[in-house]
Amino acid sequence: MIRSTMPRVALSVNHLLERAGRLFPQSEIVSRMPDKSLVRHSNAELYRRARQLAAALLEAGLKKGDRVATLCWNHYAHLECYFGIPAAGGVMHTLNLRLSPDEIAWIANHACDRFLVVDDVLLPLLERFRAAAKLERILVVPLTGAPVKAPDLSYEVFIERAPKDFVYVPHDEDDAVSMCYTSGTTGRPKGVVYSHRSTLLHTLAVGATASCAIRGDDTVCPVVPMFHANAWGMPYCCAMVGARLVLPGPHLAPADLIELFNSEKVTIAFGVPTIWLGILQLLDSDPQHHRLPSGMRMLIGGAALPETVVRGFARHGAKVVVGWGMTETSPVASVSGTKAELLEIDEDERFRRAAMAGVPLPLIEARLVGDDGSERPWDGVSLGELQVRGPFVTGGYHEMPFDVEKFTADGFLRTGDVAAIDPHAFIRIADRIKDLVKSGGEWISSVDMEGHLMAHAAILEAAVIAMPDPKWGERPLACVVLKPGARATAEELRQHLAPHFASWQLPERIEFIEAIPRTSTGKFWKAKLRERYR
Ligand code: ADP
Repeated sequence: MIRSTMPRVALSVNHLLERAGRLFPQSEIVSRMPDKSLVRHSNAELYRRARQLAAALLEAGLKKGDRVATLCWNHYAHLECYFGIPAAGGVMHTLNLRLSPDEIAWIANHACDRFLVVDDVLLPLLERFRAAAKLERILVVPLTGAPVKAPDLSYEVFIERAPKDFVYVPHDEDDAVSMCYTSGTTGRPKGVVYSHRSTLLHTLAVGATASCAIRGDDTVCPVVPMFHANAWGMPYCCAMVGARLVLPGPHLAPADLIELFNSEKVTIAFGVPTIWLGILQLLDSDPQHHRLPSGMRMLIGGAALPETVVRGFARHGAKVVVGWGMTETSPVASVSGTKAELLEIDEDERFRRAAMAGVPLPLIEARLVGDDGSERPWDGVSLGELQVRGPFVTGGYHEMPFDVEKFTADGFLRTGDVAAIDPHAFIRIADRIKDLVKSGGEWISSVDMEGHLMAHAAILEAAVIAMPDPKWGERPLACVVLKPGARATAEELRQHLAPHFASWQLPERIEFIEAIPRTSTGKFWKAKLRERYR
């Protein structure tokens, strides 16, 4: 028997703050304010202010494990919460400001949030649930400069008054640092609690994956909200390598983002497909006026991405990398990229692969399981439920009984996604189980059909849903949004789909609609469409 000579040093988010402050103090954090002006901070200031926040929270009576909620856009103060709250031993709970006030109150109470950090521009939203939520103290980030009204306290005053001699609250690597609720499009929202260890391992795994790794000389723009799945871990990755951060605040319209990418020379940006569909449409409609910084990369995930979008951005000189993940998986669990054996593939195959969900990240184990419980082969065609396991995949939900519908006896998360995996270990997501269309006993992939519809020149967006049918069980219904000024008939669209699908798979019903409803995380909200047409 030989014992390792290595000490057991606890993995810690505090280490990332120390790195940011001591190794990369000059790296910049640019935040866009509600009035569109830009405010600049350095990592040295992040270091000082996050520790001041921690000291102030302790002074205010925060106890280890207490929850501190945030209701904020992406900006410097939200970033300070990412590091300052755990530094004090607290747990940052990011509230999704796009949920209804009732849902926010329910989630804040379920998580037992004690303190809340809220943007002054979001106070009208807070007023709609303040009475229902049992919050003890409210700290207002004065983004507009308007005075903060008692009994609330200005975040700036709160951290200014903090005692100067801060020491990190000791912790174990399994202690909680942050929590996030799934959006609850199916049933009540469920809380996932991340630890120092899971956060560090996720940060390292993302950083070790070439196609999404961030370098010290990158300028990173998380368009994905910091209240959605830890902004995909980007705040931690940037602190680890000293990258420059550009935070867009509340301004997420395509034209605003394109302007920000250019003025701040963004090299990599992150977000869900719907954001990029809007950006691509603007680039295509007026390429003289709108451009992306040359060589810009974007990591797109959170929902299926049509291949046409990858090709579209290539026309504008930008490279798309697709990632798959869930709130439950910290969230990034697989990412598209290249492999030595795929260097010789032709351009079509490259684009096809680029739009896939990619290869599992280090430390993630993945498998496909069929209806009969047996594992499906990785042949690229066999479909099964994607199941994943790893040190940054949750094993349960906060204050909920163990759910055998969500977790297997051997510790895998049942993702609810139907996928195929090919011999190169590339995952292709076919559907969410609840979005599959089952017609005459056969599956029709709504993701495939949406991808082909969105490749049509007249179509801006498409969502395919299942409609109950007395004869076939279910039939697909396609909801399409045309580009401004474009025209197309249902028959033309069926002909456009015909080469890619069997005739029985083609949708009889195609509805032309104004817009596809979005969930609180900006994805197509198919449940709403099903309600509308049922
Ligand atoms: P919700 O969408 O329910 O709010 P999450 O943000 O955790 O919660 O979403 C996770 C789900 O998003 C996955 O289970 C999957 O269905 C979908 N998803 C994420 N990335 C991709 C991708 N690259 N391709 C297809 N679907 C994706």
